[in-house]
Amino acid sequence: MSRYTDYSQGDTPSGSEFYEIPLLDVPRFLTCSLASCIRPAVRNRGCPICILNLCAIHILPQHHRCPSINLLDNAAWEATIGNEVKELLSEVNVPELVRVASTHRGGISCQFQPGTHLGDGSMMGCANYHCWIIFDDGIKWIVRIPRTASFDDVPQDLVDYLVASEYATLKFLEKIDTPTPKAYGFGLSSDPKNLVGEVMPGQSFYVNEATDEQKSHVYSQYADFLIHISHFPATQACSLHPDGEKTMESAIASNRFASLGKYGPFSDPIDYFSSIADLHLDLIADGQLYPEYPKEAFLFFRLLKDRAAPVLAAASTSTSGFFLKHVDDKGDHILIDENYNITGIIDWQFARFVPACEAFGPSLITADLGKLYSGLLGLSTGDKNVAELLKQKGREDLAQYAVGSELAKRFHFGLTVGLSKNEAMGMIGAVLSLLDVEISDKGITGWVESEWDQAVSDSRCAKIEKLMGDLEREGLESKK
Ligand SMILES: [Zn+2]
Ligand SMILES: [Zn+2]
Repeated sequence: MSRYTDYSQGDTPSGSEFYEIPLLDVPRFLTCSLASCIRPAVRNRGCPICILNLCAIHILPQHHRCPSINLLDNAAWEATIGNEVKELLSEVNVPELVRVASTHRGGISCQFQPGTHLGDGSMMGCANYHCWIIFDDGIKWIVRIPRTASFDDVPQDLVDYLVASEYATLKFLEKIDTPTPKAYGFGLSSDPKNLVGEVMPGQSFYVNEATDEQKSHVYSQYADFLIHISHFPATQACSLHPDGEKTMESAIASNRFASLGKYGPFSDPIDYFSSIADLHLDLIADGQLYPEYPKEAFLFFRLLKDRAAPVLAAASTSTSGFFLKHVDDKGDHILIDENYNITGIIDWQFARFVPACEAFGPSLITADLGKLYSGLLGLSTGDKNVAELLKQKGREDLAQYAVGSELAKRFHFGLTVGLSKNEAMGMIGAVLSLLDVEISDKGITGWVESEWDQAVSDSRCAKIEKLMGDLEREGLESKK
């Protein structure tokens, strides 16, 4: 397939000169829902109210007038979620699910029970809705179904891949004897799109609700888990995929925002880090990510690619191999009993094997999220606590990563969904500081302007200039 898309023979959208520039043939999840528009839809920004996926232009408030879901009144919000659950349940092949589950337990009969999706005891997470399989002897299994609201624009084959990969990761974790749910099976969207596993005892660990002593107790067990993981490297940066009864190293399963496709696997850390940044650069230039501040977002990921990726790759050379990393390890993925003993570690969607500096670097569980969002630097007390525990347990090497790779944490965190332009500027400032880049007295704004001048040789900059021109014109139109 050509690297360029030629729209000269087809219809071009009216009022736009955007397509005069040859477009890099960037993969898209969806095309804008408006029939007359051929731009790509912005990823992860489908509207749950009008069920449209809009492009960088049509997502502007003068074109798309739905309120934010956060601003809906309770009744409207509940109706939206209720419709989503109804649709999800309509796709579950209950007789088949129950038959397969029963076969796994020697014919003990069972029933399917939808999970609560609102209020107390809700089984609805950001990315997955959960139901039950209840056996006649009282044993309960959980059924995990990817949510439409989180994956509505994600191509079906990628959703299938995410489910299969999470299953393979659980199988790997079971084999190396870690406290994770035992997975019994998965079905793809062509069948029921779910993952079935055992229910683990315990409550989610919320860092902010724990005393220092309780935190330390959890961190000590978490350090043991990291040490255990360090004994089972993969040969590539990859995600796992089922391969018959075994698991195989395969392409990396998207990212924690489900805004990337599959990529890799990579045998060299530099290729892993560079590719992630490069994929973002393509998507930003194509108007599929961060349409509110494409220039700043582009320069952020260009900085990650050109300056941070080599530093991170070099930081991983002392430990060969790649290690399993949970992508959303902010604490509630850890289940604990009343004495803060870890009973299970859950939610392994998007898990991947990554270079050591990322796998053992400071995680979200010990991060000061306020600082991370604001772009302020500095390791938290928790980061240092985990490092000290690793050292006490004889793993000075892992302790070094735990306090030495704030850059790896920021690379992984990227520009999280929903950041304002100012917050993105703060993120740029933080990465520049970590890379010891001197900033002139014109500050980050001055850095953005001078970097942009230097970036023009990248053909993607012309696309961004054009996109910004279109966005500006739309802004002026709306004020007429
Ligand atoms: Zn809408
Ligand atoms: Zn559009």
